[in-house]
Amino acid sequence: LLQASGIRRTYGSLQVLKGIDLEVKKGEVVAIVGPSGAGKSTFLHILGTLDRPDEGQVLIEGVNVFTQKDKDLAKFRNEKIGFIFQFHNLLAEFTALENTCMPGYINGLGNEKEIISRGKELLEMLGLSGRMDHLPSQLSGGEQQRVAVARALLNKPSIVLADEPSGNLDSHNALDLHQLFFKLRDDFGQTFVIVTHNEELAEMADRRLVMQDGMMLP
Ligand code: ATP
Ligand code: MG
Repeated sequence: LLQASGIRRTYGSLQVLKGIDLEVKKGEVVAIVGPSGAGKSTFLHILGTLDRPDEGQVLIEGVNVFTQKDKDLAKFRNEKIGFIFQFHNLLAEFTALENTCMPGYINGLGNEKEIISRGKELLEMLGLSGRMDHLPSQLSGGEQQRVAVARALLNKPSIVLADEPSGNLDSHNALDLHQLFFKLRDDFGQTFVIVTHNEELAEMADRRLVMQDGMMLP
């Protein structure tokens, strides 16, 4: 499903990624751990096509993503990749349902009715039926993060990339969120790459990879 090879990225004279390879199969949950500054977020952003590498390539469903022009790449990203961040990045002035539906409106995917029904279905599945019209400020941290999961899933992405998704949650909400990832994998074959400092999650994952100093440890 995803193949990254020889990924290098430098910022000025700082070599942040020193040639990283990664292959992820459909339905896999891959965890990436490693010390602060190892380059985990930088690598995840490249996998998610938010940043271009200096060298190396990323194939997602056979598409060599960085050969695309920026405009096509943005469309590809919106359709194929779901993102979840440590701080959910929900838009404060929009409701849970509106936030969930946001990726559906970008690039005009589907029609409004379909987008909204998909958004409602996801929020119901994530136990947020009674929270659809709440603003982010009216939701708990765990609920906000579940809205972020719903938003990431809206366009039925090939892969969901998460950067410290439970970094901001207490241990109870973190465990709920982790179990949700595995349920989505079991029920729908959803694929995940998750950067985390949470060892419990890393242990539960199909693979626990360690990044250090811009390299993936063997
Ligand atoms: P953490 O666990 O703290 O989130 P990380 O493994 O995600 O760390 P990165 O955010 O990928 O680390 O950063 C790796 C290195 O690259 C750090 O030294 C950081 O300062 C540097 N870096 C990241 N982004 C930029 C940028 N846009 N410009 C310059 N340096 C950057
Ligand atoms: Mg990081």
